[in-house]
Amino acid sequence: LVRAKESAESADRAKSEFLAMVSHEIRTPINAVLGFATLLRETMLTTEQREQVEMIRASAETLESLIADILDLSKMEAGKLDIDRQPFALHKCVEEVCAFFAQKVHAAALELDLRLDPDVPAIVNGDQARLRQVLVNLVGNAIKFTDRGSVKVHVSCAQGEPAAGDGRPTLRLFFAIADTGIGIPPNKLDHLFQPFSQVDSSPKRRRGGTGLGLIISKRLCDLMGGAISVESRAGEGSTFRFSVLADYD
Ligand code: ADP
Repeated sequence: LVRAKESAESADRAKSEFLAMVSHEIRTPINAVLGFATLLRETMLTTEQREQVEMIRASAETLESLIADILDLSKMEAGKLDIDRQPFALHKCVEEVCAFFAQKVHAAALELDLRLDPDVPAIVNGDQARLRQVLVNLVGNAIKFTDRGSVKVHVSCAQGEPAAGDGRPTLRLFFAIADTGIGIPPNKLDHLFQPFSQVDSSPKRRRGGTGLGLIISKRLCDLMGGAISVESRAGEGSTFRFSVLADYD
């Protein structure tokens, strides 16, 4: 049994290392495709050629984000993803995520509303890049799965006990992303935070995506000392909530 367990663990490690290496190797040529397609787009082209170049660029972009997701997931499975703890501007970080989607929201005639509770500190210690990644996944999904209405982002917080080590005050940050979109049927809710889980996985589905965003977000929330959950009604919209632990000076 011990030997079987060790061999399974070593196979698992080999798989994660293989995935990490392959994803890394695939990135370089994808970047070349993306870069040259972007350059080509700036040259004199017929309408048809422009559409074709745009398709090359969009496909390379999709591939790039898929590879980034696979790399993240394999790093997490190998226990090699470390969470940073640096001071960063929390309000600015959330505002920038909303600004990043402004054009998409406008094009889809949706409303994007951000509310930051007044007691949420402007500067906290935590992992800005990973928090942003979860927010981009959830706000991006909310927009992608909403045809009309709004996406509302709400940030609140609760004071925690001072940390054992340096006695800094800790803080639990709560994020809620509510949309008025297509919602999720009850029988799909339980499987949502599993790899490649998509409510509509048919090749003809029109919203795109890989089914990795939520599992990555869940793992990141776990690593940041928090949790993620969802409430949804098919046809009425969804609310994704997550929390992370931070501290401040
Ligand atoms: P992706 O969006 O790339 O398909 P995710 O892991 O981010 O992958 O999401 C998995 C699935 O969960 C989506 O394909 C969709 O079916 C469902 N989902 C996620 N967010 C929403 C939302 N806000 N409204 C409706 N369905 C959602």
